[in-house]
Amino acid sequence: MSRVILQPTGNKDAREHYVDTLVRPVDILRIKPFVSSEEYNYLKDMYPDGLVPTWGVTPGVNNVNANKWSKIQPADVTFFSANKILYSYGFVTFKIQNKQLAQNLWGFNIKGETWEYIYFLDEIREHDIQISLFNKVVDYAENYKVQGFAVLDEDKSESVLSYFGLHSETVIQPVSEVEYQNIIENFDWKDLDTEGKSKSRAEQGFLRTTLFRNKTTSNCGICGKEYPISFLVAAHIKKRSLCSKEEKLDFKNIIMPMCKFGCDDLFEKGYITILNGTVKSNGKTSTEALENYLNSIVGKKCDYWNESTVNYFEWHRHHHSLSKVR
Ligand SMILES: [Zn+2]
Repeated sequence: MSRVILQPTGNKDAREHYVDTLVRPVDILRIKPFVSSEEYNYLKDMYPDGLVPTWGVTPGVNNVNANKWSKIQPADVTFFSANKILYSYGFVTFKIQNKQLAQNLWGFNIKGETWEYIYFLDEIREHDIQISLFNKVVDYAENYKVQGFAVLDEDKSESVLSYFGLHSETVIQPVSEVEYQNIIENFDWKDLDTEGKSKSRAEQGFLRTTLFRNKTTSNCGICGKEYPISFLVAAHIKKRSLCSKEEKLDFKNIIMPMCKFGCDDLFEKGYITILNGTVKSNGKTSTEALENYLNSIVGKKCDYWNESTVNYFEWHRHHHSLSKVR
């Protein structure tokens, strides 16, 4: 699950870095000479505009920061703070230890260290959260002050993320196939408590990684248009709640990307079905605007229709073949 990172920026170095490499993100071409081609390609997929908000921490005394940094994962949330205010947050996309890059970006501090434990961010947003409210949410003493770089434990992180409703639209938390299987086989979905929500996000995260990998844009499987993945859902072809465990584990075939601009809802509500690989209208329309949208997608070829998925599409077609559309 995602963790919360606290990053105070009270001192001069931190204030400067905040402006120099976050407010003004680093040009990917400046990073390129210092990283492997694999790392470079990963960043290029993640930042199609080539602008990379970058942060780093020094190793710290006895590697105290390095050890905290080692816990950071994609989709963690960093809060920047100063003067008793958490004034912005962003989602972690990727991290690398890289002394040369850190030197190039920020030089050295007075102890001769550089900020070589680097992590990259996205979806940075400003806000004003009083530290007193934050302390209440994580159950800290009222006068607690963020002293240094910190990575909160899972419980405290979950309290913060659910209180403020923070979950990345783009970065996907790494979930392995084994973890996914474990969730599908052992978890009772009636429990929509904190653990349930976190498992449900992990399931979605896994399915989204399966579909999108580390790309930030992809094509809707119905209308074919390309959108940022925050506008695409990993939709079950056969309704998820009616899938058997075996069908849920057939994740390579049971899901496809659908856009939030209409295709996902129209498919879910049965206004459209897929017959022999082609989008068909179910014949139920009610307004001109809806009819116009349907006309724009009916007849399109669905690239996800094949012999491994046809049964799921047929299930969907039969499920909506009676006059169930409202
Ligand atoms: Zn679409």
